[in-house]
Amino acid sequence: MEVAGLRKAFGELEVLRGIDFSVARGEVVCVIGPSGSGKSTLLRCVNLLEEPSAGRVTVAGTEVTDPDVDIDRVRRRIGMVFQAFNLFPHLNALENLTIAQRRVLGRDRAEAERIARANLERVGLSDKAAAYPAQLSGGQQQRVAIARALSMDPELMLFDEPTSALDPELVGDVLAVMRALAQDGMTMLVVTHEMSFAREVADRVVFMDGGVIVEEGTPEQVVGAPQHERTRTFLARVL
Ligand code: ATP
Ligand code: MG
Repeated sequence: MEVAGLRKAFGELEVLRGIDFSVARGEVVCVIGPSGSGKSTLLRCVNLLEEPSAGRVTVAGTEVTDPDVDIDRVRRRIGMVFQAFNLFPHLNALENLTIAQRRVLGRDRAEAERIARANLERVGLSDKAAAYPAQLSGGQQQRVAIARALSMDPELMLFDEPTSALDPELVGDVLAVMRALAQDGMTMLVVTHEMSFAREVADRVVFMDGGVIVEEGTPEQVVGAPQHERTRTFLARVL
């Protein structure tokens, strides 16, 4: 995945002011930065939930900002997990995982269910296939949301603060699933305030402030020995 010269303005407000970076296949990049720095907007520009004002975004070799590209085709290969779990409340866990596989990818019921069960197992929830979202904890719901994204065979997984709405005791299970995904070689772009996760799992950390990348490097560099005052100030608040 590559982002080049990415800009996004909402009216007069310039939220992204020229972002350049890439995530290689199998790499895990964590994006950190203060509230309002443009982290969510960046993620939303990657799968064109927001239309960039300028610049290019390329995912798995396809330029998603090319006006001629079939964005639905590209978007279905990008998994996205938000702070809010966004599960269908009237569908059980298994059905939440099969519906898009069947409607978007055209898989038949048996195949979609086989893939769904494998992914529920992957997130440690094989016993919850028949449970409805309201019967699951926040952490379990978030793991179902991850399993749902995985069921679409994504080339890239985007996570936007996936644990920040969870009770503290539920955060660890979700991070463990993400850590396992990273170890399996998934390409991941993760906005997070979990510095221990960034330190242990990220190949690279990107620090954003005011719509630009202030600093990027290995976790040891950016979190362990930040070069910029703005990075140090931010880390002093969150660590
Ligand atoms: P947080 O850590 O609080 O989630 P963030 O880094 O994800 O912050 P963004 O959500 O990307 O920040 O928002 C960056 C700026 O863009 C903010 O000033 C926000 O108010 C503004 N913004 C985001 N979306 C819109 C929108 N649809 N219309 C107008 N302004 C927006
Ligand atoms: Mg955000």
